Amino acid sequence: MKEQLQLLERLQEIDNQIDRHEKDLARVPLEVQDIARNLVVIRREISEIEERLGQVQKDLRKKEGDLSTEQEKIKRSERRLLNIKNQKEHNALSREVKLGKKVVGEIEDAILDYMGQVETLTKSLERKRNDYQDFEKRLHEKKAEAREVESSAGTALTSLNSEKLNVSEAIEGQFLKRYTAVKKARGKAVAELKNGSCTGCNMAIPPQLNIKVLKQEEMVICPNCNRILFVKPENIPEHNKLEA
Ligand SMILES: [Zn+2]
Repeated sequence: MKEQLQLLERLQEIDNQIDRHEKDLARVPLEVQDIARNLVVIRREISEIEERLGQVQKDLRKKEGDLSTEQEKIKRSERRLLNIKNQKEHNALSREVKLGKKVVGEIEDAILDYMGQVETLTKSLERKRNDYQDFEKRLHEKKAEAREVESSAGTALTSLNSEKLNVSEAIEGQFLKRYTAVKKARGKAVAELKNGSCTGCNMAIPPQLNIKVLKQEEMVICPNCNRILFVKPENIPEHNKLEA
């Protein structure tokens, strides 16, 4: 019986390790995907900013062209003003110059606004490009981790599964059946008895059962959670060992 309990305990250890490796195998590829998705999003954001920046720069150049055209026009009008003797014509052209200067002021405001936008967009573009590089680096590292996990988990699982087979074969059918059923229902089927309590559910075990567990002569089930109880050798009192 003692040996059977040890085998069940070992089986649980093996199952825990198998679960851990399988979780890693499932988790890391998802993390790779997650980073790759982020890269796609950032790439799209970069394209959008580049497009907007290109448009603003184009608008800016157009306004700069408009500005020099307007300024040329004003210069020409001002030169003409010097030679106009007719008061009425002079007034009309003066008004035109005044209007032209107002337009120039508006164009200059627009140019300042565009320059501000160019600066903001350039900064956010730089930030996004840095983010992209960071995520690219993380993707590279995560992929390396994925390869590492895949190969180490693969090796470990091969040997764990073969040990599981051997251990399972050595366990009596009824015990294995109970182990499998409780594992399915509770996650873990074997629990250590410690200080009179089941460590699976933390309930105190009746003294009569406690003694049976220490004797290791039959399989004892926790009345509360149905887990198979075992005790570590160092927690077995001397007199129990002598009896056994
Ligand atoms: Zn329990």
